[in-house]
Amino acid sequence: MRPTVALQVFSYDVRDEGAEPCLAAARLAGAEVVLLCVSHWDAILPALPGRERRLPHNPTRSSHGSGAYFRPVGTYPAALRPSDEPGDLADGDTAWSELAPPAHDTGISVIPWVHLLTDRVALGAPAHAMRNAAGQIVPGWLCPSHADVVDFACARVSDVIEKLGPPAIFIDRIRFPDWGLNGFIDSCTCFCDACHDLAATQGLYLAQLREPLLSFAELLRRDPARASRISHDAVGSAVGTLRTTSDNDAVLHWLRFRHFLIERLVRKVSEVVRGRCELWLDVWPPSWAWILGQDLRRLAPYATWIKPMVYHRRSGGSDIPGFIASLSPDPTIQDAAYQTFRALFAFPGPANVQDLLIGGLDPLFITQELQLANNMLDGRSHLAAGIEVYACGPQGVVTALDHAATANPVGYFINNFAVAELDELAAVGEWIQQRANGNT
Ligand SMILES: [Zn+2]
Repeated sequence: MRPTVALQVFSYDVRDEGAEPCLAAARLAGAEVVLLCVSHWDAILPALPGRERRLPHNPTRSSHGSGAYFRPVGTYPAALRPSDEPGDLADGDTAWSELAPPAHDTGISVIPWVHLLTDRVALGAPAHAMRNAAGQIVPGWLCPSHADVVDFACARVSDVIEKLGPPAIFIDRIRFPDWGLNGFIDSCTCFCDACHDLAATQGLYLAQLREPLLSFAELLRRDPARASRISHDAVGSAVGTLRTTSDNDAVLHWLRFRHFLIERLVRKVSEVVRGRCELWLDVWPPSWAWILGQDLRRLAPYATWIKPMVYHRRSGGSDIPGFIASLSPDPTIQDAAYQTFRALFAFPGPANVQDLLIGGLDPLFITQELQLANNMLDGRSHLAAGIEVYACGPQGVVTALDHAATANPVGYFINNFAVAELDELAAVGEWIQQRANGNT
């Protein structure tokens, strides 16, 4: 059976390059779906020098900037009503109206792609912001412990469905941050008052967790080599992991509390979506997603499609090589940090950090994470492989798709038009056609 293929497109792609080149790229990749980002999307964590992703065919910009702006019409919580001013953002409504009709005429569905917890409204809402273990605001992130934030997300989703009438809505940024402008400490969230209060009702006292998290963040800043050694010892084996987590039950309890918050958010959104269109989820590779609040076992019942971002070039949705490079310029320390990540997520390779910085993860990572996702979804939602098509050449694309196919996904969502070369997208289309013809 021919798999479902989708191409992810930003509103600024439509504005800068035009609707027809975006649709031509979708046809080249064999995609019958375009996932169009109609909501705010921003590079919250600026890329490190040398790590910016270049846009090979955009005529007006060389790297990612701000995303889209979606004009609000529905009812929002008073403190979280989106601005009516688009500023310099591309207009998601306009991109939709330019792309969807010609797409429909050629048999391509357009699905709105919406980021929830990092909507632009987060930048002006300190009372609803996530706070890290040091008490600092994590810029650009809303905390899902607040009833207002859940209501905002539901209003945003309802607004998009009401205005666009799509067959599905694809939601993203439904998790906790990896790291942010404050550094590693931003991954230790959330410690806002609402989280303290809600966690206490579940017997979890967040104040007890702050000190060990702050101590580790400080050690990572002061002595990244020692921090990496300690972490590696803790996660380097199954026995070590069990020992560590059983010694610190509060950490497990905290991770489960984060699962609860993200599941609650997705469940509430699913109630808004039900009977109007399908709900599709953009999630992280399952082993890392679990740490960031996404337990795919718990999310599976709510979605028609779930797409883990098994992006091997940049190690999941984030840029682990860039993060490692930011810790220290010393290659020995960088390698120690990489070996910790490798142990934590069972990365299959490469063997050393220099090869990681140049080529990203071994593509076997794609297979491993998709097999895990398949097990966790257990047939309750369709699995789409989130394939990163960026700086890997046509042969690299084929290698990534071959590794994904081993885990039997029923769809391939390609990320994304802006950074892909056209010959890389053509390689996707040719590979899909060969599978459809039974030549695997
Ligand atoms: Zn919070």
